[in-house]
Amino acid sequence: MRRRRNVKILATLGPASRDAATIRRLFEAGADVFRINMSHTDHAALSHYVSTIREIENELDRPIGILADLQGPKLRIGAMAGGGVDLETGSVVRIDLDPAPGNAQHLYLPHKEIFAVLKPGGQLLIDDGRLRLRVESVNGESATARVEFGGRLTDRKGVNVPDVVLPIAALSTKDRADLDRALELGVDWIALSFVQRPEDVAEARKIVAGRAGILSKIEKPAALDRLAEITELSDALMVARGDLGVELPIEQVPGRQKQITRAGRAAGKPVVVATQMLESMITSPLPTRAEVSDVATAVFDGADAVMLSAESASGKYPVEAVEMMDRIARSIEGDSHYRTMIEAQRPEPEATTPDAITAASRQVAQTIRAAAIVCWTGSGSTGIRASRERPGVPIIALTPVVRTGRRLALAWGLHCVVTEDAQSFEDMSERACQIAYREGFAAPGQRIVVTAGVPLGTPGATNLLRVAFVGRKPPPYAG
Ligand code: PGA
Ligand code: MN
Repeated sequence: MRRRRNVKILATLGPASRDAATIRRLFEAGADVFRINMSHTDHAALSHYVSTIREIENELDRPIGILADLQGPKLRIGAMAGGGVDLETGSVVRIDLDPAPGNAQHLYLPHKEIFAVLKPGGQLLIDDGRLRLRVESVNGESATARVEFGGRLTDRKGVNVPDVVLPIAALSTKDRADLDRALELGVDWIALSFVQRPEDVAEARKIVAGRAGILSKIEKPAALDRLAEITELSDALMVARGDLGVELPIEQVPGRQKQITRAGRAAGKPVVVATQMLESMITSPLPTRAEVSDVATAVFDGADAVMLSAESASGKYPVEAVEMMDRIARSIEGDSHYRTMIEAQRPEPEATTPDAITAASRQVAQTIRAAAIVCWTGSGSTGIRASRERPGVPIIALTPVVRTGRRLALAWGLHCVVTEDAQSFEDMSERACQIAYREGFAAPGQRIVVTAGVPLGTPGATNLLRVAFVGRKPPPYAG
């Protein structure tokens, strides 16, 4: 089974997509990576999702990526009296550490550290920014704030404090427990929410220790200020437009989306564009024109992946949402403007042998109209560099490491195949031909461009490019 597009689709699992049959339909409709949102998933459900996905992977013999998205240091207001209270615009409330249920005069904010960084004039945004409070005075353990936009406030809604670096750990106790379990279960990617500083990523890296890729969600203005360092320490990025659109004036989000996708592309770190992409499909079988255009923009920008949240996790049309994304992506990638827009953003190769070979493989493939580029990759690094080139021909990543195949499922354009390491120079190009044929990328008589490292099996040693002919009758290959 092969996809007819380069951009990948990330689908969040949830109550609307819990059973094996639906997850399988999501995969068949086009989901390349599944996201499990740890804000809404307990360990039993996590383990159910992972084992179900691995069964489907086995049955269909295609590597599938799994991303566990940690909740991160999300701030929440405490319980409200009677479950909900109206906060009136113009009124003044006291915010403190008193656990008494909130009311029109008092709100419980159970995060002592926050009072140290609140400043008069600063904002507190509650419930995805639906309510806005402006701080008037602060002391060590409480604050007063004027309600600028009021409304009904119910129990434990999220609080965003933009424009300050919060003095809180990147991983909460819950995050650490979720992370341990996710790693035990062998997920491929860990997403870090509310990354503020490069140190947050470094701390997670130490714990993960190479067992999964680390994706940093960019959803705080503080993270944008240090995007270069965060990108360097991360294996992938997400434009997390939900919280970003609360923390920043919403009209600045499209510009930041360009900034983050370009930073990721230049560095060769996959970038996911997320949140509200096909929002109306939560309740409707068809998206709006504006949503279609939004997905198209991410594809034109050269993002590695587009993501579905509630659309696939709790909406009425999870499979239709994936099908719609697939249709939009295929149509846009076939549009006459697509290649010129992608090529206009191509970053230069770095001064390494693997990058030089990879850049050459794209040029050779495009010049001779090769059917595909086939790259042998153990750690996945050559696969990622090949993806960074955004070639105009399909890329097949061959790896003996099943975890590499799964992880690379997130990267633009890579069709990953798990196969044992090449035994010899001849085997390396023959097997590339057989697999390109078997997977439906190359017909007999066509040429492919193969890259590999000699001595075979040496990690990070891609130093060889070969043009190979797919024979008239490629022998069947079972592995
Ligand atoms: P979330 O992250 O769905 O976990 O909040 C994505 C976003 O903020 O856009
Ligand atoms: Mn978020």
